Amino acid sequence: MDLLIKNGILVTPTDCFKADIGVDEGKIVAISSKMPAEADDVVDAKGKYVLPGGIDPHTHMEMPFMGATTVDDFEYGTIAAAFGGVTTIIDFAIQPKDKTFLETIALWKAKADPKVVTDYALHVAVTNLTEDLIKEIPDVQKAGVQSFKLFMPYRKEGLMSDDGRIFRMLEESRKLNFLVQLHAENNSILEMLIERNVNAGKLSAEYHAKSRPNYCEGEAINRGLAMAHATNGNLYIVHMSTKEGLMELRRWKMMGANVFGETCPHYLVLNDEKYLSPKGRRYIMSPPLRGKADNEALWDGLFDHSLDTVGTDHCTFTDAQKDLGKDNFTKVPNGVPGVETMIPLLYSEGVRRRKMSINRLVEMTALNPAKLFGLYPRKGTLNIGSDADIVIFDPDFELQLSRENLHSKIDYSIYEEFTVKGMPTYTFVRGKPVVYNREYVGKKGSGKYVHAIKPQF
Ligand SMILES: [Zn+2]
Repeated sequence: MDLLIKNGILVTPTDCFKADIGVDEGKIVAISSKMPAEADDVVDAKGKYVLPGGIDPHTHMEMPFMGATTVDDFEYGTIAAAFGGVTTIIDFAIQPKDKTFLETIALWKAKADPKVVTDYALHVAVTNLTEDLIKEIPDVQKAGVQSFKLFMPYRKEGLMSDDGRIFRMLEESRKLNFLVQLHAENNSILEMLIERNVNAGKLSAEYHAKSRPNYCEGEAINRGLAMAHATNGNLYIVHMSTKEGLMELRRWKMMGANVFGETCPHYLVLNDEKYLSPKGRRYIMSPPLRGKADNEALWDGLFDHSLDTVGTDHCTFTDAQKDLGKDNFTKVPNGVPGVETMIPLLYSEGVRRRKMSINRLVEMTALNPAKLFGLYPRKGTLNIGSDADIVIFDPDFELQLSRENLHSKIDYSIYEEFTVKGMPTYTFVRGKPVVYNREYVGKKGSGKYVHAIKPQF
């Protein structure tokens, strides 16, 4: 046996139990309470949790956007992921307007393959949906991508899909069994509000949030979900930030729509007061941070299973890049870091502070994304035959989430004021250590593309 993790408490979505876990040739081969201690490497996890490796279903590594490129490339981004207990990221391959979906996937693989230290899978972010491209989808599914993101906003940036195209894609999602992801904000209202604020000389960071009010998201989510219901399509709303949107998701789930929701750590633990600080532009992302009532509503949504997953929308721009918009919020590259801090924040703020079960944490961060995006049962679970993506999590390890304690290339932390209790201390990807007792021991390019299979909805 290559690796034996002894004496830990294994966590699944339903149980916590003390067992040893054995790994050979990258797979979990044994889970037992009486394992002979024979392996090339034996790690004692006494007093620690043993979790299935996290899956972050929403990252943007090395992504060009708004005149800048995210500073975490596939190497630094996945090193940060590994320190945060994430063993698979699902990144968005953004379709250049003149490229097919398969060409887009090839472009992203060429960037990721030489650099990743964890495994990765891909979604296609669609910017130019034509009937010819719809015909290409079965081949894209054969190439291992089962999810396609459409944007309701960003008309001027050239990313927007109108309602007709969203409806068309939802029809197809039912026939071919893939997942449509939606960035839901009402484009024409927010465009009008941005223009009004800019014309009035209201250019500071707080007007970013004021130009994209809760209503803009709630209305758009409702519209998307209604279309999913009408077409019987499969729809996943990315980065949900408002209580209004959550109410719509609950309602349409009750109506029997095949719909799912994701929120992000920053919508759970940060609020829009951040925009009033001198570094307010660090917190500019879309949708924006909301009020405290929204924070608590989203936690409720995680508790009552209205929300299915947490993704980070990891999209890192340095202070210098954010300064592109220091005099005008519309010029600030949108995005915040998150891949390293997601699981620690969910543990400290969810499990410790709000009494969420650690089983639910594992369900949201491993099992559910694995199932929705076609990575299960290879990923997302601790079971015989699954990939040995394993995290040893020390519930007593305290860490301030300051810049010098984190591994992203970004030059600040948005969670400086948070000290978490509970951190991953070992991260194994297919049985190989990437983080070993909080030391980086991974290898650039050792991560693999994960070929997603058709999900079962
Ligand atoms: Zn995103």
